[in-house]
Amino acid sequence: MIDQKYLLEILETLCRTPSPTGFTQHILPLLEKEFNQLGLQPVRSHNGSISAIINGKSGNVRKVLAAHIDTLGAMVKDIKDNGRLVFSPVGSYMANSIECENCQVHTASGKVVGGTVFSLKPSVHVHSDARSYERRFENMEILLDEKIRSKDETKALGVEIGDFITFDSRFTVTEKGFVKTRHLDDKAGVAILLSLCRAIKESGGIPADSVQIMITAYEEVGHGACSGIDPTAQELLCIDMGAPGEGQNSDEYTVSICAKDSGGPYNYELRSRLVQLAKAQQIDYRVDLYPNYSSDALAALKAGYNLRTALIGPGVYASHSYERTHIDSIEYTARLALAYMMES
Ligand SMILES: [Zn+2]
Repeated sequence: MIDQKYLLEILETLCRTPSPTGFTQHILPLLEKEFNQLGLQPVRSHNGSISAIINGKSGNVRKVLAAHIDTLGAMVKDIKDNGRLVFSPVGSYMANSIECENCQVHTASGKVVGGTVFSLKPSVHVHSDARSYERRFENMEILLDEKIRSKDETKALGVEIGDFITFDSRFTVTEKGFVKTRHLDDKAGVAILLSLCRAIKESGGIPADSVQIMITAYEEVGHGACSGIDPTAQELLCIDMGAPGEGQNSDEYTVSICAKDSGGPYNYELRSRLVQLAKAQQIDYRVDLYPNYSSDALAALKAGYNLRTALIGPGVYASHSYERTHIDSIEYTARLALAYMMES
């Protein structure tokens, strides 16, 4: 049984803890603590992924369930003469999706300086072409929440080129069960994995074979699962997001099962088994194709792992922006992942 209260609590904690690709070190102790409390022994790799093994009736790992903790973010590219920041995106997203968002600049000394992302023409009262002004990263800047008029004043705060920038997640759950926040991709997947560990612990269930739970840290830039997979593993199930929208079969209320993405088709036999498991357990699902999408499954295969791979996830609307899904979609995903883990 998936504990929905726990799932939402841990999801909120994860979403409120910044972890852009390349700057995940502050969230790793939180994940390790969570695994420890669930009776597992997490192991951290050199590149920041965390793995824990759920022991099965047979000792060998056959299945790996993976999600990624890294998210979109940005980095200070330059400090302007007026003290404002030029920034470079980390990960792939549209500049307009962070316009007017509150952000934090993480300095080398550990100090955090708040700010806001604006376009260079942010006000209709000042710029007659503010509405049509193109939202490209070159046309955006960050104003820090400090009284600053010069580059030297910004530098005096400890802000330097190369500092990471994170965006407010604005996590909220509505009365009707919608979860609205940045970084559902893929903190929903990580929260689901932790919920599975909790469900196994509470039920006392033992999978047929040992299962590797893996949380990767570089998925958004394409090499999350390139290392760290147990050598005896035969299958990798990525828990990442489904992408609903115009022309898509996925929605925000069901678990999405990905048949094909820009990396090509997923393993047909494994996908078919997931569909059968969903049918058998009355789990509402949608099979879908994502044309502009790839996952840690492709990273693992390109790294040379010999695996059957599949991908499931909650339907996340407006992905890589201020995202939205419904708790039903997260719960169906967790139930399908649990059914897969416990499949004989
Ligand atoms: Zn993702």
